[in-house]
Amino acid sequence: MKPFAYHRAQSLRDIPDGATIIAGGTNLLDLMKHEIATPNTLVDISHLDLNRIEPEADGLRIGALVRNSDLAADPVIRRDYPVLSRALLAGASGQLRNMATTGGNLMQRTRCPYFYDLRTQCNKRAPGTGCAAMGGVIRNHAIFGASPDCVATYPGDMAVALSALGAEVEIAGPDPRRVPVADFHLLPGNTPHVETRLRPGEIITAVILPAPVTGEQRYRKVRDRASFAFALVSVAAVITMVDGRITRAALACGGVAAKPWRDPECEAALVGREPSDALFEQAASLMLRSASSQEGNAFKIPLLRRTLIATLRDATGLEPAP
Ligand code: SF4
Repeated sequence: MKPFAYHRAQSLRDIPDGATIIAGGTNLLDLMKHEIATPNTLVDISHLDLNRIEPEADGLRIGALVRNSDLAADPVIRRDYPVLSRALLAGASGQLRNMATTGGNLMQRTRCPYFYDLRTQCNKRAPGTGCAAMGGVIRNHAIFGASPDCVATYPGDMAVALSALGAEVEIAGPDPRRVPVADFHLLPGNTPHVETRLRPGEIITAVILPAPVTGEQRYRKVRDRASFAFALVSVAAVITMVDGRITRAALACGGVAAKPWRDPECEAALVGREPSDALFEQAASLMLRSASSQEGNAFKIPLLRRTLIATLRDATGLEPAP
């Protein structure tokens, strides 16, 4: 690991320009050990007053330093936003959730194996050098929104649930603002090293949840083993039904793109309809109409279809297919 200076910030203003911020460090320390991240100065913000969950309008304000385990166990989150609690508990291990923070979870980097291997070409790690995944081993890579320069996925679970819930990211800096979680992560295009809307000199201070939605919430994650594995595919669903018809549907998919993937046409196709196998097949076809794959990750297309349909069945109470 490259030597670095350590600074314990006393406030948000006490963060020098160009410094790398550390809180839980669950991803950053890995990146530093691999020398993918080589900060000159590391600024520790872990003790700042950003670790509260408090009411905000009709929803909740989650401080950026709230630990994943505390957020998952919070009684209001469990009662009103269960998809968030379930997504958090589906991620990482207990030890990691005890350290990982809300802000850091949003900022975690891809787990593309070539990104972590300094001997290979990677446009995300070293812009303009190429992409070793193209023509290499593709498995946990994107089926939506990829580019010739990068096919990596965003690996987190929490943001998938937050996207379906319509949450926003609160950003502090020269231009304070809120950005919908659904728009926070960027598709790779020809700048895969630019992963979020966070600009230099900015910091995430909170995530804002809107008022809770009446209805059913589900998070379904498919992975290679039962715990401590990133999603091959996942689906977060927030579904409202009135008199046997779907009146509101929010769906976000994880493990399939550089951001939690939503498709407004797919969601709109469900509204006003009664749950049925035919409807859910149609919705899945809409979701997958823009999917593309290579040999190694082609399995994700039927896997996402089945996972989406199973999640919709579960959320709407449709009896399992015989
Ligand atoms: Fe790097 Fe993206 Fe290619 Fe992976 S897919 S090697 S992260 S450029």
